[in-house]
Amino acid sequence: MSNSNRLRIAIQKGGRLSKDCQDLLKQLGVKLNLREQRLIAHSTNMPIDVLRVRDDDIPGLVMDGVCDLGIVGENVLVEVQAERERQGVPSEVNKLSKLDFGYCRLALAWPQELGKQDKSWFEGKRIATTYPEILTQYLKREGINASTVMLTGSVEVAPRAGLADAICDLVSTGATLEANGLMQGDTILESNACLIQNKDLQDTDKLALINKLMPRLRGVRQAKESKYIMLHAPKDKLDEICDILPGSGQPTVLALAGSEEYVALHMVSSETLFWETMEQLKALGANSILVMPIEKMME
Ligand code: ATP
Ligand code: MG
Repeated sequence: MSNSNRLRIAIQKGGRLSKDCQDLLKQLGVKLNLREQRLIAHSTNMPIDVLRVRDDDIPGLVMDGVCDLGIVGENVLVEVQAERERQGVPSEVNKLSKLDFGYCRLALAWPQELGKQDKSWFEGKRIATTYPEILTQYLKREGINASTVMLTGSVEVAPRAGLADAICDLVSTGATLEANGLMQGDTILESNACLIQNKDLQDTDKLALINKLMPRLRGVRQAKESKYIMLHAPKDKLDEICDILPGSGQPTVLALAGSEEYVALHMVSSETLFWETMEQLKALGANSILVMPIEKMME
């Protein structure tokens, strides 16, 4: 168990999730003294320490209570969980929230020149992957008898290098597969980054701090999805204008200094305003239409 009285959060040190994790902590109001080579970064305004490690180590650190929280891809979490379950080592965590970054999918792929293939093609083949547990479970589920070749990097070159017949790897845009002459097949797992917590955490101060951070996290997400809309509307068209505004929020109507005909209309919308709607608003006589991003929100 973590014996420090400071909340310990594990994040990826260098890689695809690092910048998003650091940005998220900043948005939550956690000020960090980040120095490139340091393993631990201390927050200067909250009792929080951030451990910067390889992403593969994050689930284990949280499961073993070395860290209280961790941010990691669901792909890595599921793989480590399956491995630890098989070994009979504790593998549970509390998943506090799915995060809106790190999206990717774990998919099968094979050399393009072989053309489209169905599942039976994999029978007796060798599949290179960094996720042998997830792949083995999939093959078992589908009743396919294939072997796995564990590679920790450059999985996409395995078929060309003669190390395997196919691969099972992470894909986001598919550009890497294409560049390596591979055709994408079934998706085995869809993944996002997620926030996990040690399931035995009982320290009341740490739990209170987590309870303070969670509404902030929801606020950050809500703010990202919302827009602040402002416009000037002719009073006699107010109902029609309100009818076409997006979202279910009620607008605020304010008097406009020096104008009898127009009012100002402000609203927070859970959706953006598309050009087409702006054009309809304009056609109804609205003007000075502004759509602005929201930085923070608390309801
Ligand atoms: P580390 O050195 O920390 O072990 P890594 O090389 O294993 O890093 P990265 O390539 O930095 O890992 O990816 C980290 C995570 O980012 C992945 O586990 C996955 O959850 C997510 N991710 C999002 N898009 C992609 C993608 N296109 N390819 C690989 N991972 C992706
Ligand atoms: Mg890794």
